[in-house]
Amino acid sequence: MVKLLNDTYTTFKTIFTGMGITWGHLFRRSVTVQYPEVRDVLPQRVRLKLDVNMDDCIGCRLCERACPVECITIGTIKSTDDDDLGETSTGHKKKLWVNEFDIDMAKCCYCELCVHPCPTDCITMVEDYEYSSYDRNDLIFSFSDMTPEQIEAAQVKLEQEEEEKKRKKEEARKAKEMKKAAEAAEAGEANEGSAEAKEGTGGGGDTDAEAAKEARRAEREARRAARKAEREAKKKSED
Ligand code: SF4
Ligand code: SF4
Repeated sequence: MVKLLNDTYTTFKTIFTGMGITWGHLFRRSVTVQYPEVRDVLPQRVRLKLDVNMDDCIGCRLCERACPVECITIGTIKSTDDDDLGETSTGHKKKLWVNEFDIDMAKCCYCELCVHPCPTDCITMVEDYEYSSYDRNDLIFSFSDMTPEQIEAAQVKLEQEEEEKKRKKEEARKAKEMKKAAEAAEAGEANEGSAEAKEGTGGGGDTDAEAAKEARRAEREARRAARKAEREAKKKSED
């Protein structure tokens, strides 16, 4: 009997307590909004999603290196000497094509460490929180606007320029070597001339003199060939 009375008391007590709380909240100011019809005002500097203004990105990869969870992936291609990629709004000269700029927001921990090192302030947190998805791949955001054709063209152009530079460098090296050889040969020729003069006055043996003459002739032939090769190399590099 006592237990029954106790349970009845507890039942009514909890009902009145609950109803009291409910009625009390009916007259208080609401703290929720009718989302999505109504959206709350977000606090300043809120961290919700990263955005990149590719017009201002110079591909320096400072953001990629700063990220502690490696969720930024950047790919760049060097521009060639005749490419003009323009400048950013902050006055930085653009020298790299940014062919890949992906951010995996599923991995991002919203630390904002990538934002502060950016020299052109082009990576920022924006007030966008409506990007939930059932597929993780939908959370990888790509910012590069280069098409596969443009990437291929930039790569081919760079390869060609590098090949051309390599070829010119090699030709310049060869020409330099040949010039050195020709100079050394000329110096040797001058020394021989004086030695010959000495031989003429000294009256040495006929056989030795003939052999020496033959050797000098051979040397002269070699020098002539070297000079000819040098001229041809120069002509090629000028073309
Ligand atoms: S906010 Fe932090 S975790 Fe997210 S991309 Fe930037 S550095 Fe990486
Ligand atoms: S730090 Fe800024 S400029 Fe450099 S790659 Fe990242 S977003 Fe681009």
